[in-house]
Amino acid sequence: MTIKENLQKIKQELPANVTLVAVSKTKTIDEIMEAYDTGQSDFGENYVQELRNKQSLAPKDIKWHFIGTLQTKQIKYIAPFVHMIHSVTSIRHIEEIDKRAKQNNRIIPVLIELHIANEITKSGVDDSELFELLEYYNNNNFTNIEIQGLMGMATFTDDKEQIRQEFKHLKKTFDLLKEKYFNDNVNFKHLSMGMSSDYMIAIEEGSTIVRIGTLIFGERKYNK
Ligand SMILES: *Cc1c(COP(=O)(O)O)cnc(C)c1O
Repeated sequence: MTIKENLQKIKQELPANVTLVAVSKTKTIDEIMEAYDTGQSDFGENYVQELRNKQSLAPKDIKWHFIGTLQTKQIKYIAPFVHMIHSVTSIRHIEEIDKRAKQNNRIIPVLIELHIANEITKSGVDDSELFELLEYYNNNNFTNIEIQGLMGMATFTDDKEQIRQEFKHLKKTFDLLKEKYFNDNVNFKHLSMGMSSDYMIAIEEGSTIVRIGTLIFGERKYNK
């Protein structure tokens, strides 16, 4: 199957309100262009240097999502163009994104990454850190960063019920935050959950953004 065929197949299964982010890490500009030429507009990357290289070469109307582990000192490199950052996990991230967005005269939408998996290797804040972050955000008048929702990654397992419970927890937390902090804010509406192996479960549990790599571009080959 070609990239084009893979994309068409996935898009047929997605409800109209769900955004498909094509995760293109380790993939070439030619592969990105094949997806772009079928009308795919949103792409996700995990590494700042790789994202900068690709952004400089690819069409300027691509919406780039940063989904990898975020390093505070690298935020300045993506602030001029990034469409959304999915992986905010600290007060320092919030302050730096607001500062760099201001310098670029723009507002950067972000998601807080919540740790929902039963694996210590996965990143994200725990529930109590999440509420600390939201209290902090709420008590400051940030003008150039906007928290629009949550992101999470389920455990890598064949146990579909476990994955479903983790997504349910993420959705429940989202609803709680919405009620407590964002009741009158229509922009707090995103739940970024679901990858190649679990996006159908994620959609059933209320996902609004799925991040899919392997099913579109094939297996990744790491040569480093
Ligand atoms: C790599 C990655 C994906 C895509 O994973 P696939 O299994 O290839 O679909 C999605 N989200 C994050 C955060 C990733 O790092």
